[in-house]
Amino acid sequence: MADLSTPLGKVVGQPSASPLAKHRGLHTVGDLLDFVPRRYAEPGKLTDLSSLVEGEEVTVVARVERVTTRPMRQRKGRMLNATITDGTHELDLTFFSAYGHEGRLVPGARGLFAGTVGRYHQTWQLTHPDYQILDPEEEQEAVEQYTGNLIPIYLPAGKQMPSWKVRNVAQIVLASLGEIPDHIPPDVCKRRGLVDLVSMYRLLHQPPTDKDVARGRYRRKYDEAFTVQTILAQRRTAGEALHTKPRLFVAGGLLEVFDARLPFVLTAGQQEVSAEIAKDLACEHPMHRLLQGEVGSGKTVVALRAMLSVIDSGGQAALLAPTEVLASQHFRSITSMLGDLAEGGMLGGSEIGTRVSLLTGSQPAGIRRKSLLDAASGDAGIVVGTHALIQEHVQFFDLGLVVVDEQHRFGVEQRDALRGKGKQPPHVLVMTATPIPRTVAMTVFGDMETSTLTELPKGRSPIATHVVSNPRWFQRTWERVAEEVRAGHQTYVVCPRIGDSDSDSDQVPGVNKGEFSDEDVEVAFAVDESVPPATRELRSVLEMEVELRDNPALAGLRIAVLHGRMAADDKEEVMRSFAAGTIDVLVATTVIEVGVDVANATVMVIMDADRFGISQLHQLRGRVGRGTSPGLCLLVTETESEMVQQRLLSVAATNDGFTLARLDLEQRREGDVLGARQSGGKSQLRLLQLLRDEDLILAAREDAFAIVGADPELEQHPALRNVIASALDDEQAAYLERG
Ligand code: ADP
Ligand code: MG
Repeated sequence: MADLSTPLGKVVGQPSASPLAKHRGLHTVGDLLDFVPRRYAEPGKLTDLSSLVEGEEVTVVARVERVTTRPMRQRKGRMLNATITDGTHELDLTFFSAYGHEGRLVPGARGLFAGTVGRYHQTWQLTHPDYQILDPEEEQEAVEQYTGNLIPIYLPAGKQMPSWKVRNVAQIVLASLGEIPDHIPPDVCKRRGLVDLVSMYRLLHQPPTDKDVARGRYRRKYDEAFTVQTILAQRRTAGEALHTKPRLFVAGGLLEVFDARLPFVLTAGQQEVSAEIAKDLACEHPMHRLLQGEVGSGKTVVALRAMLSVIDSGGQAALLAPTEVLASQHFRSITSMLGDLAEGGMLGGSEIGTRVSLLTGSQPAGIRRKSLLDAASGDAGIVVGTHALIQEHVQFFDLGLVVVDEQHRFGVEQRDALRGKGKQPPHVLVMTATPIPRTVAMTVFGDMETSTLTELPKGRSPIATHVVSNPRWFQRTWERVAEEVRAGHQTYVVCPRIGDSDSDSDQVPGVNKGEFSDEDVEVAFAVDESVPPATRELRSVLEMEVELRDNPALAGLRIAVLHGRMAADDKEEVMRSFAAGTIDVLVATTVIEVGVDVANATVMVIMDADRFGISQLHQLRGRVGRGTSPGLCLLVTETESEMVQQRLLSVAATNDGFTLARLDLEQRREGDVLGARQSGGKSQLRLLQLLRDEDLILAAREDAFAIVGADPELEQHPALRNVIASALDDEQAAYLERG
């Protein structure tokens, strides 16, 4: 009797096992059982030969109608042609040598034929198909097997192992299967209506009906969700077991003074989230919290308050941004919000004040050295910088809190790396402005607590979005921009390309390193897998700048460009000028997508808007309407596709980020949810396939957390413990592979 770890060769023989190992990486009984059929062919009603597609692998059950052989002109030997039929449609089989086939392929014989569909002289044909004639003695059984039950169709494992041979192997394996321990406890199976493990394999590999397939698949999906949730539950438990210094509120400290000076009242949501964070910080185990909130919902203030309270209790805080532009902006805005509170130790500074330092890769070495020193000595209460820099190069005196801004590109591994930073693990707050659908939050971020800011601060004006797809209105767009500028406001114009010679490569950068240049982010954003490739020349920043300068409607306006390939100083200078209002129109790439905050900018024109994904458009338009004047977003497109226009109209129709995130998720292919780089590993890919099954994930999460809560090491659940260990191995392997 075999179990899941039995080598395949022992059960089905080496000749069958070898191609499965070579082409599909299947080595054990368990591997094979997890290699589930791609689809199931209807029995009885044979594969519809009327709907063949060239190049497709097919397996058909059919009857041999005619057989002819003829000598070949060029070579010795005879060629055999057979015509098979399903009763209505015909398919030709061609063998360049009749030898060995003549006696078996005779009119009236029924068989199972597998091959790749080709087209020859306007007839469909299979060249050298694999086949299995069902001899009359087998007929009864075969008919039952092939006409009574669904016919599972597998991916072939190389030439010697077509779909039907894989099926035979699976049948043998199933027949030899002994008792196997089920990693899902029976009471959970009962409560959730799940079949047990062995039944699941039977239902997937030899299902009598569609209903059975569905039951098998449901259990399998549950398994995947349950495995992921068990891992998350264990991570959560492990996090709770870590010890760190609690950071308690200190009366008369920076936070209190800051609050007293705040020019606005915190929204109810901000107060609530701040209280949650304060409670986390006061704990003896490190906070691990995700803060989501629409662009402009006021996350940064909440984070800053947390940082101040950590400083009050003697610690330091680091703020990690994905790009240099963002890091510099955070540095500027935090410094200005703090005023003299950020001038600790300086003449005229506040007595309780601290210092904020900035760390970016392109700073002059001297300034950078000073920042590093301030971090190490503890003089800098807040260190702002890019992810990579802070993670790799900085020593802190007493790092108490790490705030990670604007990420959905920040994986579990990076979060883990941070934990090793301080004397004791720091508290971690991750902020994201990209609304994360619940299923994603529960899986990808399922080991973290989450807080959500749902309301925007009062006095915000809504953003009106319009799709401009009629070329007649293109010029009107620029007139509208000019009107806004005359009214004292500023405009962004976003293009999908930079436009210098070699920057338009569609390579996705290796973002998993946790290292992002502005350009990386641009490129990563420019390649949105849900958007099909462009079929026309796209607008570029550099061309657009020239075009706008020549446009009479914009005569006299101050126009500048911003993109990732500019020198850091130039970028910095442009952002500063734009913020200061000395630039009217900023032509930029998506480098401005994340977090750039200029309240006086009211118009966002997005060129070739069809090139951007839904969430991305929403994120981009969040750059305007941040002040008290209403924002306007114009989605300019020349697309003729109805579907694409519809996508843009749906963005125009709502400002609710969560609605759009869900829509975005629905439009993406499986596995694309977080972009290609997040789905690199096998285990993650699987995980992402679940993202649409909210109820199932909820159920699995509840069960997994209950089990881990009662038995963190899974001592009572050895089968589950094994499954988790091997899933973690896969994940580790995938991570190492990605480098
Ligand atoms: P986010 O980081 O969530 O995009 P920010 O924290 O940058 O949002 O806030 C956007 C703008 O709103 C900032 O200029 C900030 O000073 C301001 N702001 C934050 N909270 C409030 C509030 N409660 N009332 C009024 N303005 C606020
Ligand atoms: Mg922000």
